[in-house]
Order: sequence, then structure tokens, then C-alpha cells
Amino acid sequence: MAKVAFIGLGNMGGPMAANLCKAQHHVTAFDLSDAALAQAVEKGAHKARSAAEAVKDAEIVVTMLPAGKHVRDVYEKDVLPNVAKGALLIDCSTIDVDSARHVAALAKKAGFEMIDAPVSGGVGGATAGTLTFMVGGPEAVFAKAKPVLDKMGKNIVHAGDSGNGQAAKICNNMILGISMIAVSEGFMLGKRLGLDAQKLFNVVSTASGSCWSLVNYCPVPGPVPASPANRDYQAGFTAAMMLKDLLLAQQASAGAGAATPLGAEAAQLFSMFVNSGNAGKDFSGIIKMLDGK
Ligand code: NAD
Repeated sequence: MAKVAFIGLGNMGGPMAANLCKAQHHVTAFDLSDAALAQAVEKGAHKARSAAEAVKDAEIVVTMLPAGKHVRDVYEKDVLPNVAKGALLIDCSTIDVDSARHVAALAKKAGFEMIDAPVSGGVGGATAGTLTFMVGGPEAVFAKAKPVLDKMGKNIVHAGDSGNGQAAKICNNMILGISMIAVSEGFMLGKRLGLDAQKLFNVVSTASGSCWSLVNYCPVPGPVPASPANRDYQAGFTAAMMLKDLLLAQQASAGAGAATPLGAEAAQLFSMFVNSGNAGKDFSGIIKMLDGK
């Protein structure tokens, strides 16, 4: 089994690293948080005192960090100057497309193979090892990385060249953010017109308005027992994370000259929701704001 360095052991990285340990990989872990690092060690990882130390004997490096600036920083200062020759670099963080392409280019210049491999599936998927990975990078590097990604996920998709994993992720989440608002508006209008939520669900879920936000994640309590609406919008996928991804989509739209007016409106609405004390709530809780609560 491979020697893996894992950097960033938060809500997602912690359980992902634990699954690599479970699969008998030799995982050397580092996080700025002592608590996160201690938890990873409890799950079988070996502790490193720095990111530089973690990567020095690694065959594979996995990073799961908050944002583009952390990824640029860790790769520029810690990973690329110290990692063992021939190591395969995998960044699973959700970051802006430009940073992903920038870091991949630096890695290539330094003689390393790298992919961006952001995930979808949340903490539940990270824990169960059922994440979806959207991978950007050369086909041959994707093939090399797949066996290790298989230990953390069940749907591993090659999305094209460097940065395309991030592109696929933010396009998906922009659609998700917009569709959650659309479904919420439908239910709020229905409520004011005297429509029962379950009856509206029964109609729309088998009609042309159906979508994932309705069928799997319905924002009103009742119709979908597993949805966060049934537990006071406990996340799930936080509104803060949704806002982060919508802003990444807007940044990408501006850079690429794409018109995404509904994406822009969704970012504004989620920004209002987050800034009124709901950052940690599930993103489907935006229905309460749309309901005037
Ligand atoms: P998190 O904040 O829980 O974890 C990030 C970890 O990185 C923290 O433990 C932090 O201490 C560590 N870190 C930051 N800078 C570091 C550095 N320089 N060196 C070492 N460690 C450092 O975040 P998370 O929820 O695990 O999310 C990680 C990434 O995954 C983000 O990019 C997020 O957008 C993405 N993501 C999250 C979810 C989710 O549901 N939480 C779902 C899909 C994707």
C-alpha cells in the first residue's frame, strides 16, 4: 500500500484520511489544528510536525484545505520544495479554477503530476467513503490516482484538463443553489395559495418541475424524511459553503465572460441569509428567509 501524506484534516479531510488508513495505506497527516491532527492519529494516521515533514517520503499527497489561498500557500511553501521525487499530487479542496490551474502549472514545472479532485457528498459521504470526485488533469494521471480515490469515494469522474474538476464542481453547485431557491419559492407561493406541501410535492416530484433539490432535499418538513428541513435545518451542507461555491462560480463567470444572472442573484440571496446569522445552518434553510422569517 502507498505512503500517503494528508494535509488538512477538518470536517472532510479527517474522515477521508481515516478511510485511507482503513484501506491499509500508510498515512502521514498534518493540520494546523492540534485537535484535528489528534483525531486523525486516533484513526490510524502518523503525526507529522509540519506539512513539509508530512510530504518528504510521500508517494501520494492529498490536500483538503479551505480555499485557494491556503492551497497556493501550502503547495508553494511546503509541498513542492519538500516532496519526494515522483510523488503524485491530489488537491481535493474546493477552490477557484485559476488557483487550481496555477498550482498544477507550478507542479508540472517542478516535475510533478497533479490533479484537482474536488468532491461532493458532504461529511456523510466522506465518512462513508461514498464521495463523488470531479477530477481535472491528464487522463494518465487520473488513471494513476483512481485507485486511491476509490478508497474515499464511489463515483470518480474525469472532467478534463487541470482545473476542470473545480469547473464541474462550481457549475453543479451553482445549479444546486439556484434550484433550491426555485423550489423554496414554489413552496412559499403554494403555501400562500392554500396548497398543502405534501400535495404540491406529490405533483411536482412527478411533473416537469422536479429536480434533486425537491426530490432528495425538500426544503419543507414532511415529504422527504431525510432532508434537513425535518431537523430544524441542521447541516448537511452549510449555507456558508453554498455561498462560497456561488461566489467561486461568479468569479469564474466574470473571468470567462459567461452570463449567469440567476447565479448572481442566488449568491446575493445566500449572502443575505448567511449574514443574518445562518452561516452554519443547512443551505435549504433559505426557505425561511424567503418565507419572511
Ligand atoms: P474545515 O475547515 O473543517 O477543514 C479545513 C482544515 O484545513 C482545518 O482543519 C484547518 O486547520 C486546516 N488547514 C488550514 N490551513 C492549513 C495549512 N496551511 N496547513 C495544514 N492545515 C491547514 O473544512 P472542510 O469542511 O473539511 O472543507 C475542506 C474543503 O472541502 C473546502 O474547500 C470545502 O469547500 C470543501 N468541501 C466541503 C464540504 C462539506 O460539506 N464540509 C463538501 C464538499 C467540499
